[in-house]
Amino acid sequence: MRELIMVRFGEVHLKGLNRPYFLRMLVEDIKKALPEEDVRVRLADGRIYVSGFADMEKTLDRVSKVFGVYSVSPAYETEKDTETICALAAEMMKDVSGSFKVLCRRSDKTFPLNSQELAALAGGRILEANPSLRVDVHKPETEMWIEIREKACLCNREIMAVGGLPMGTAGKALLLLSGGIDSPVAGYQIMRRGVNCQAIHFASPPYTSMRAREKVLELAKIIGKYEYGMKVHVVPFTKIQMEIHEKCLEELGTVIMRRFMMRISDRVAKAHGCQAIITGESIGQVASQTMEALGCTDLMTDLPVFRPLIGLDKLDIIHIAEKIDTYETSILPYEDCCTVFTPRHPMTKPKPDKVAKEEEKLDVEGLIEEAMQGIESILV
Ligand code: ATP
Ligand code: MG
Repeated sequence: MRELIMVRFGEVHLKGLNRPYFLRMLVEDIKKALPEEDVRVRLADGRIYVSGFADMEKTLDRVSKVFGVYSVSPAYETEKDTETICALAAEMMKDVSGSFKVLCRRSDKTFPLNSQELAALAGGRILEANPSLRVDVHKPETEMWIEIREKACLCNREIMAVGGLPMGTAGKALLLLSGGIDSPVAGYQIMRRGVNCQAIHFASPPYTSMRAREKVLELAKIIGKYEYGMKVHVVPFTKIQMEIHEKCLEELGTVIMRRFMMRISDRVAKAHGCQAIITGESIGQVASQTMEALGCTDLMTDLPVFRPLIGLDKLDIIHIAEKIDTYETSILPYEDCCTVFTPRHPMTKPKPDKVAKEEEKLDVEGLIEEAMQGIESILV
């Protein structure tokens, strides 16, 4: 008998001619998720099978976090001998309770029993070994799967995985990453769709501390796991913020600052081949996230700006942050550049022409150029 993990892939099934490409990427990603092991990852009969690992539960956990994987099952492969199969099925069901059903699929038609006969025989042996079980063919609590191919393969437990699409199959984007709760979640959501993300972070030392910066790098590390390392571009933002604070109307300070973030993000994205910009904004959450303010900001780039959290409530976002393990880091109380020089009454419905007029008081190009020169790119 040999231990295996059976991997089901969800949406990859929907890909027509591109399916082989998506599957190749998925197989590679599964291998990358198990770097220290000499595992075998094999594609057969519309599933992926992983073998050669040391620890079943640890490997299940790792594989279930690979984007593109719909679910995983611990499985056991054995000889195509009726007696061996039935004994293994009974053994696998000995600690299970409630109702069950045996399902067989026989792609090897030379096997002496057909699917129904094998299911009936195995079901009988399972009940003999564990009389507390009962058969329910309509809504069983446990499904015992037996597949007969070049070997027999059995499994009775399915663990839901992260889903989505294999990493990198949907291109590359630049994520505006603050130290808050929202932006790491936005990054995760978009990465789950197969988009490789780099991050950009605006820091305003000495108003923002080294610890605030470390926190952002830590967040990038947590979500960067899904793509085996993330590049973070840290932009010096102090001078821009000081200039805005000194020269511009206070109530427009936030929207002007956000337009600078977008202008710089546009250049960094293009320099690194990113096809879109991602932010963690959701409508109405704060003054800078009204539709008018978002509209003013979007004018600063011709790249698409995606906001995967746009329609979510804060509580929905917190739930995801908890699930992906970013929440505890995000709530560490270090300041973000957005909290430096916050206007008392930011304008919630800024007009683009009025904002542009206000920006004429600044050397926009010079400030951007200087910030671009100071960018530090870190791989976490
Ligand atoms: P978050 O929880 O992600 O910080 P937030 O609710 O605090 O979001 P804002 O501070 O207005 O909202 O930021 C909105 C979005 O702008 C963030 O989700 C992020 O994408 C981007 N952003 C804000 N501050 C920064 C920063 N210092 N560096 C990079 N991006 C930032
Ligand atoms: Mg923030």
